[in-house]
Amino acid sequence: MNQPSRRDLLRAGAVTSAAVLCPSPASASAAPTDCPPPLGPVRVVPDDPRYADLVRRGNRRFVGTPDEVRVVGSTEQVVSAVQDAVRTGRRVAVRGGGHGFEGFVDDPAVRMVIDLSGLTAVYHDPRRYGFAVEAGATLGEAYRRLFLGWGVTIPGGSCPGVGVGGHVAGGGYGRLSRLHGLAADHLSAIEVVVVDRGGTARAVVATREPTDPHRDLWWAHTGAGGGTFGVVTRYWFRSLPTPPARVVDFTVTWPWAGMDEAGFCRLAGNFGRWCARNSAPDSRGRHLYGELLLFRPQAGGHTLAGQVPHGSRHLLDELVVALGDGVGVTPTVSAQTLPWLAATLHGDDDGKGWRLKVKSAFHRTPLTDRQLRVAYRHLTRADDSLLTGSLSLNTYGGAINAVPPTATAASHRDTSMLLFYLAGWADPAADTAAMAWIREFYRDMYADTGGVPPHGAYINYPDVDLRTDTRAWPALYHGPNYPRLQQVKARWDPRDVFHHDLSVRPPGR
Ligand SMILES: Cc1cc2nc3c(=O)[nH]c(=O)nc-3n(C[C@H](O)[C@H](O)[C@H](O)COP(=O)(O)OP(=O)(O)OC[C@H]3O[C@@H](n4cnc5c(N)ncnc54)[C@H](O)[C@@H]3O)c2cc1C
Repeated sequence: MNQPSRRDLLRAGAVTSAAVLCPSPASASAAPTDCPPPLGPVRVVPDDPRYADLVRRGNRRFVGTPDEVRVVGSTEQVVSAVQDAVRTGRRVAVRGGGHGFEGFVDDPAVRMVIDLSGLTAVYHDPRRYGFAVEAGATLGEAYRRLFLGWGVTIPGGSCPGVGVGGHVAGGGYGRLSRLHGLAADHLSAIEVVVVDRGGTARAVVATREPTDPHRDLWWAHTGAGGGTFGVVTRYWFRSLPTPPARVVDFTVTWPWAGMDEAGFCRLAGNFGRWCARNSAPDSRGRHLYGELLLFRPQAGGHTLAGQVPHGSRHLLDELVVALGDGVGVTPTVSAQTLPWLAATLHGDDDGKGWRLKVKSAFHRTPLTDRQLRVAYRHLTRADDSLLTGSLSLNTYGGAINAVPPTATAASHRDTSMLLFYLAGWADPAADTAAMAWIREFYRDMYADTGGVPPHGAYINYPDVDLRTDTRAWPALYHGPNYPRLQQVKARWDPRDVFHHDLSVRPPGR
């Protein structure tokens, strides 16, 4: 779409001047003098009352023990923090929204955490690369500002509390992705703080322009995952889509009561068949996004949750009929039409009160009969130590599948479902049982292919077991793009300053 000029927007009253004029500038001198100064830098050490909040922002399985957390509010502050870490030989990690599933930021070896909580501006940047979203913003903040200011959105994840920082670098999919692609498919440029071979930190802008000598750095941030090349301070997006004005938000529940193994297998099998029929870029069903959450019996039932534009409600009705075929249990359907933004921002179930372990798998075809029986067996296992254990089958494909696998770093472009395995519990005493449950479940699902999914896994649902279990983990996460990602790593992070258990390794390692 043609983006309106800043003057048009101000004249139309569509944005406040602050939304346009007061980002956290890369250079303070670029900001008008009436802009408030950026937050930070704030240096938080262990005896500071803020420390406890800053070292446990996500998954309760992990609590960091850094010497300091540096809360930053500008690119210059990030450069300075990274430089300090390199100069003093301390391992550094960056936190965006704190929604990562593994302990990459909270690793005991990390001595400095750069927390981007002060870097949250969202604004239109017509002279540069489109809409700018600073990397400390949450998805919810980005959705609200982009929609109210300009009527557009990023087709990213469905949890408003997720941080833009890690999410976009890992690809980022959500309710509108089958219509408009991944969040990273709309990325036009990034600003990232990198460290050169001599140990000097600096901010670099990399764009998708074919003539940009830094283009490889932009490309690596379109799906390879965060924490691996540098600290992204700002993302720019172009050609952002307009979301539907109203959507039908739905929950369909099939009770466990009365559902036997055959009924369970029909339900999950029917969903996979529907996804396979509706995963092409031009498929009719691409307007619908749904997650079939298969729960353990303690939860009471299985739930299809999702969204469809108001004008495409018939797709939901057809899907409910297709899923129920042969299941033998009548579902309850709850569907309400909501304005898009209200539907998008409601229900921030961020899982932060839980100890979590997740695994993922891309699937091209429906689950096999053997896999359906394995899923039934593990979900009905009599382990009562788990508070929550589920397998979610998520619709994938559509517009995501229209992009060639090497055009961005997100290589999984021939997929119909993304599977999300989740164990969530509260009591540390249940760690061993919970971890064993999800590991055995996953191993048995992919027993025919060495215990790992044949068509890959999603780096934004990272699982360090894949690194332990198999030397093939880079191919699972990055497909054919891994050797090129290693070249980018060698060029932009030659000292391997930014690393974690599943970061891209330098060539030869
Ligand atoms: C409740 C919940 C719901 C989710 N829903 C979805 C969904 O619908 N769709 C989806 O695709 N994913 C979803 N995710 C996964 C999410 O996209 C990833 O966990 C993502 O990496 C989180 O980013 P963050 O900045 O919040 O996390 P963080 O924990 O802050 O960071 C995660 C990783 O990215 C790195 N990182 C963060 N910021 C930067 C930066 N600025 N520069 C470089 N590296 C950085 C960190 O160092 C770390 O390695 C969900 C996660 C949760 C917990």
